[in-house]
Amino acid sequence: LARLRGRLARSGSPLGSRLLAVLSRDHLTEDDWDELEETLLLADVGAGPAGELIESLRTRVRVLGVRDPASVRALLREELIALVDPTLDRSLATEPRTAEDGSRVPAVVLVVGVNGTGKTTTVGKLARVLVAEDRTVVLGAADTFRAAAADQLETWGARVGVRTVRSERDGADPAAVAFDAVRTGRTEGVDVVLVDTAGRLQNKAGLMDELGKIRRVITKEAPLSEVLLVLDATTGQNGLNQARVFGEIAGVTGIVLTKLDGTAKGGIVVAVQRELGVPVKLVGLGEGPDDLAPFDPQEFVDGLLG
Ligand code: GDP
Repeated sequence: LARLRGRLARSGSPLGSRLLAVLSRDHLTEDDWDELEETLLLADVGAGPAGELIESLRTRVRVLGVRDPASVRALLREELIALVDPTLDRSLATEPRTAEDGSRVPAVVLVVGVNGTGKTTTVGKLARVLVAEDRTVVLGAADTFRAAAADQLETWGARVGVRTVRSERDGADPAAVAFDAVRTGRTEGVDVVLVDTAGRLQNKAGLMDELGKIRRVITKEAPLSEVLLVLDATTGQNGLNQARVFGEIAGVTGIVLTKLDGTAKGGIVVAVQRELGVPVKLVGLGEGPDDLAPFDPQEFVDGLLG
């Protein structure tokens, strides 16, 4: 993933320019501090974190006697990075394992989230990244609700040069397809199986049953290495509500924040990490095959500040 670094810097500077416009004022008044906080709120950082950041920044500015805009900006940068929490482990567990009988077990990555957030696209991009690292990959199309979803995944698979395990008919049991994909991966000795799922949030009980069954059935064949929740960065508070639901039912180990290219509201990173207590591991920066990057707090904040 390292070769994709650096792309993040292109995302979302409008927030940065607003923050910097305030910070470039000589003496920060009460109104200026309010404006800074408001700017963070508009970027979806969330009321709690935004308030904490401003309070901490104000205290440091006062205690250190900092006046010039460049120094205040440097402190703001530090505070933003701390808010995103650079100490979290953001690595992806994609190493195959060895079973007790000595056979090789692929790493299984389950990808969940509401339809339209970018799950299938993310699976395709991630497959490409893994293939570029010389890993072998199988895709599982466990979104069996719409045939078009499996077609779309298969198209990604073909593009990237990996096999897609799917069902030929609509409405097949998603857990059966997920199981098939993992078994295929195991039989063929591949490194990673990426499983795409459906996300019809309007039926929470049904979704819970479906994801629960997929998890149970997969783990008969191989342990789950990652459960990645895909969230659309442009959906703000609604995205947070989705995160809450999936956090409850899916045992999420990492977040993929998509469509960061389409928003200046990158602050959702902070809000969603707090909500779920798991790190943002990857970000989507466009629709193309190369538009997936590891999430790096410092780059992210530098991108925000422009
Ligand atoms: P799914 O229903 O969750 O599988 O979502 P899809 O993968 O089909 O993606 C829905 C739409 O979002 C498609 O038009 C994708 O091209 C688009 N998309 C996915 N990720 C990104 C991203 O990071 N940036 C942008 N701009 N579009 C994205």
